[in-house]
Amino acid sequence: MNPTPAVAAEGAPAAAPSLSFASLPLAPATLVNLEQLGYRQMTPIQAASLPLALAGHDLIAQAKTGSGKTAAFALSLLARLNPRRFAVQALVLCPTRELADQVTQEIRRLARGADNIKVLTLCGGSQMRPQISSLEHGAHVVVGTPGRIMDHLQRESLDLSALDTLVLDEADRMLDMGFYDDIAFVAKACPKQRQTLLFSATYPESIAGLSRAFLRQPQRITLTEQHEAGKIRQRFYEVESEQKLAAVGLLLKHYRPVSTLAFCNTRQQCRELLQVLRAEGFVALALHGELEQRERDQVLIQFANRSCSVLVATDVAARGLDIDQLEAVINVDVTPDTEVHVHRIGRTGRVDQAGWAFSLVSGNQMTRVDNIEKALGHEIEWHSLSELEATSGKPLQPPMATLLILGGRKEKIRPGDVLGALTGDAGFSKEQIGKINVTDTSTYVAVERSIARDAVRKLSAGTVKGKRVKVHLLQDRAE
Ligand code: ADP
Ligand code: MG
Repeated sequence: MNPTPAVAAEGAPAAAPSLSFASLPLAPATLVNLEQLGYRQMTPIQAASLPLALAGHDLIAQAKTGSGKTAAFALSLLARLNPRRFAVQALVLCPTRELADQVTQEIRRLARGADNIKVLTLCGGSQMRPQISSLEHGAHVVVGTPGRIMDHLQRESLDLSALDTLVLDEADRMLDMGFYDDIAFVAKACPKQRQTLLFSATYPESIAGLSRAFLRQPQRITLTEQHEAGKIRQRFYEVESEQKLAAVGLLLKHYRPVSTLAFCNTRQQCRELLQVLRAEGFVALALHGELEQRERDQVLIQFANRSCSVLVATDVAARGLDIDQLEAVINVDVTPDTEVHVHRIGRTGRVDQAGWAFSLVSGNQMTRVDNIEKALGHEIEWHSLSELEATSGKPLQPPMATLLILGGRKEKIRPGDVLGALTGDAGFSKEQIGKINVTDTSTYVAVERSIARDAVRKLSAGTVKGKRVKVHLLQDRAE
């Protein structure tokens, strides 16, 4: 069964769909909540998918990271939900715990306008027993990773017989991670009469296979990436292979972006680049497939809170990454896949800020650039490394540094407690404190780089929530 031909969502559709949430059949309380959340109008993927999803169609929706896919399925599954029915009515499968947590939070935010809706996260890496007892208390919506959901089904601690909506979020990444069989197992445990919504950033052949097996007459929505003209400034540099790693340092010193994501094609290259950057005094971290979840969380937190200048990553490791403020993307190697290129550079130039996208091209990669040029439909800008000069003698430093407090949710630490300790007895101002992330066992606090050591000293000497805490500065340059 082939998907119904693409809905008019590519480029500028002839009759643009309304962007107002009020044009949808949503409860008034939901509309009020959306307004309070600052969701003034639908994003393009929401405008294209919500009318179809709310009408009950199965969907295959493809749009880039950060385009608002979560709300596109969350609003739909919440609209079908009956809060008075204590049964799992919707299940969202995500590739990682990190993404499952993000989706859970977004669903909870969006459900605020409705009666008590219970959303439960079930992921691997956490103990089974508490999950089982939470399930016994009942949940309306479950968000989890395929392996763990399958575990619960096999133990019969999770019953999906009342399910109305199945969502496969980041389906391409789940398949990359080898979850096909687990997804198939879970889908077979769902009632045949259900709605299935599949979301993906890319559309490889494997997704077509998955949808043939588990979706019914799906409508397909593709939002081809149209970066707003002028928002992403792309520059290409022809560079000898041996000069590439040094060229990254030159770009950073010349443009001085606060946060940069540098893409490498191989893990080996990631390692080498990290070494070169650190040797030059940059604060850099790497994201690769070998990191444990905890380490990965730590890297992402430090990058997102602006205490790391450069994140070095492969495409696979960077999948699903949503970073608010990213001043630059550097393609250390141009990827052979034009779609991947467009996806990479789409991470910068978000919302209302401009972004840089630099590509370092060696002689044997010229055909790749030709393909990109064809896809863009206009000529690209070539620049020379000799134009680059360090604008200031000072090394590029991130504005913040991260303190690690041993203790987190399990110790009932909340962001407010930490902020209170720093702005109270310790005497810092609110403006000197950045993002505070509390995980199960740790708390990460971004503070202005200049006060970092002082903040460690004062927090160690004082108390958080009346208790002494162990604090140290995360050493971003140590291996
Ligand atoms: P995706 O899953 O496509 O990568 P997300 O669902 O994570 O994207 O959304 C990215 C960000 O955009 C989130 O912070 C979300 O809260 C925000 N967002 C989503 N929809 C809207 C909207 N209609 N208006 C404003 N912000 C939105
Ligand atoms: Mg998403």
